[in-house]
Amino acid sequence: MDCIFCQIVAGKVPSKIVYQDAEVIVFPDINPKAPIHLLIASKKHIPSLAHLSEAELPLIAHMVNIANRLAKEKSISERGYRLVANCGEEGGQLVPHLHIHLLGGKKLKDAPN
Ligand code: 5GP
Ligand code: ZN
Repeated sequence: MDCIFCQIVAGKVPSKIVYQDAEVIVFPDINPKAPIHLLIASKKHIPSLAHLSEAELPLIAHMVNIANRLAKEKSISERGYRLVANCGEEGGQLVPHLHIHLLGGKKLKDAPN
């Protein structure tokens, strides 16, 4: 098991767990790009959005719901925030395990596209 996020899910790499349930785990990004930078990751090893089956699509809705809830808890819901899911090499994905970035707490620079 050489996937770093699978190791965090298994508790083999210590990380501050912000939230978890049967499907999802949330922890702070090790290299934060904003005052709030959380990673909402699937517990199951799914390499990227491109590998999601139709049956797994509700997982994304669940992950977005958790992100929205955490944004409210962190009081950035009204100010605004950004959810990002990089997919594949040209999409800038570094860790090949499904995750969504929750970024906020400052005025974010324009998205690349
Ligand atoms: P990606 O480019 O794949 O969407 O983003 C992966 C993110 O995971 C990066 O922002 C990176 O800083 C973060 N990351 C990489 N390794 C670790 C780690 O071991 N622990 C945590 N908490 N974050 C990590
Ligand atoms: Zn994994």
